[in-house]
Amino acid sequence: MAAPQSYFDESHQLVRDSVRRFVEREILPHIDDWEEAEEFPRELYLKAGAAGILGIGYPEQYGGSHEGDVFAKVAANEELMRSGSGGLVAGLGSLDIGLPPIVKWATPAVRERVVPHVLAGEKIMALAVTEPSGGSDVANLKTRAIRDGDHYRISGSKTFITSGVRADYYTVAVRTGGDGFGGVSLLLVEKGTPGFSVGRKLKKMGWWASDTAELFFDDCRVPVENLIGVENAGFACIMANFQSERLSLAIMANMTAQLALEESMKWARERQAFGKPIGKFQVLKHRLAEMATQLEVSREFTYRQAAQMAAGRSVIKEISMAKNFATDIADRLTYDAVQIMGGMGYMRESLVERLYRDNRILSIGGGTREIMNEIISKQMGL
Ligand SMILES: Cc1cc2nc3c(=O)[nH]c(=O)nc-3n(C[C@H](O)[C@H](O)[C@H](O)COP(=O)(O)OP(=O)(O)OC[C@H]3O[C@@H](n4cnc5c(N)ncnc54)[C@H](O)[C@@H]3O)c2cc1C
Repeated sequence: MAAPQSYFDESHQLVRDSVRRFVEREILPHIDDWEEAEEFPRELYLKAGAAGILGIGYPEQYGGSHEGDVFAKVAANEELMRSGSGGLVAGLGSLDIGLPPIVKWATPAVRERVVPHVLAGEKIMALAVTEPSGGSDVANLKTRAIRDGDHYRISGSKTFITSGVRADYYTVAVRTGGDGFGGVSLLLVEKGTPGFSVGRKLKKMGWWASDTAELFFDDCRVPVENLIGVENAGFACIMANFQSERLSLAIMANMTAQLALEESMKWARERQAFGKPIGKFQVLKHRLAEMATQLEVSREFTYRQAAQMAAGRSVIKEISMAKNFATDIADRLTYDAVQIMGGMGYMRESLVERLYRDNRILSIGGGTREIMNEIISKQMGL
C-alpha cells in the first residue's frame, strides 16, 4: 500500500488553525501563571466547549463534530500542546479518556444526560481505573460494587486520577464479579453521590496545571442505570479505550519533542560562546540533526498507526510501540534541550525546563513502558 502524501486534509487544517488561534488567544498569555498556581480556570472548559474544541471526534447529536475522525483529533491535540503545558492538555482533555465508554456503551438516557454537558464544557469528566494497590494489573483491581436491588454499592478507592478534584462525572472501574478480568465493570459516578468523596490534590513532578486526586467510595450507592456496557465486560471496554489514549500520549510526546527541538534551534542560533553562535560547533549541529531525525521517525510511525486506526484496523502491538518510541525520543530530546540551553535550560522561566518534567509521566500513564513491552512481546507470540 502506497503511503499517503499527507495524513491531513483541508478540514484537518481548519481544525488546526482554529485550535492554534484558541491557544494563542486564551492559553499562552496565562499559562506560566496557571502552571505556578497548579490550576487553570474552570472557565477554560466553557471556552473550549464554545469554540467546539472539546467536541472534536464526538457525535454531532451531542454537540460534537468530526465524529471518529482520528486526524482531526490529532491536529487538535498537536495544537493544544503548543501551549507548552502537558498538564493543561491532560486536564482539559480528561474527557477523552472518561467519555468514550459512555458514548459507546452507556444507556441512551445516561448518554443524553451526560455527554452534551461535557462537550459544552459545563461538566468535567474523569476516568478512574488506578488504585493505591496498583495501576498496571487492571484485571486485579479491588474496588468492589455489589448489586443491591436497583443500585450498586461501591467500596474502595482510586488514586492518581486526572481532573479528579474538579470532575463532575467519573467513569469508574469496579469489581462486580469474581477474580480477574472477567469480573470488572464500568460505572458512572456523579460528584455529590453520598458515600463518594475526593481526597487531597496530589503534588507532582510535572503536569502542574492538571489536578490529580485520590477518590474514596464508602458504601456509595449508584443507580443500576449508571452501568456502562454489560456487567463484568468492563475490562474489554477499558482496553479498547486505551488504544486512543496511547495514540494521544504518543502525539503529546512527539509534540513535546518538537517544542524541545524548536527551543534548542532558537538558542543554538542566538547564544554565543568563544566568539560564535553555539550552533556553529559541530558537536551541537550533529546533536540537533540527530534530534530532528529521531523526531521525524517517531512522528511518521505514530501517524502511520493513526492512519491504520482511522481505517478501522487493530494496531494493539504497533500503538504500544509508538507510545514507547515517542516517549523515549521525547525523554531524550528534552534532556538534550536542557543541555543545549545550559543554565537557562534549568530555569523555570525556560519552556524546556517544564517540557523535561512534564514528559516523564508519558511513559508511565496510560500503561507503563514495561506494560507496553508485555503487550508487544505477547503479540509477537513470546
Ligand atoms: C500524573 C498522573 C496522572 C494519571 N492519570 C490517571 C487517570 O486519569 N486515571 C487513571 O486511572 N490512572 C491515572 N494515572 C495512573 C497511571 O495510569 C498509573 O500510574 C500507571 O498505570 C502505573 O500504575 P502504578 O503507578 O500503580 O504502578 P505499578 O503498577 O505499581 O507499577 C510499578 C512498576 O512496576 C512495573 N511493572 C508492573 N507490572 C509489570 C510487569 N508485568 N512486568 C514488568 N514490569 C511491571 C511498572 O512498569 C512500573 O515500573 C495517572 C498517573 C499519574 C502519575
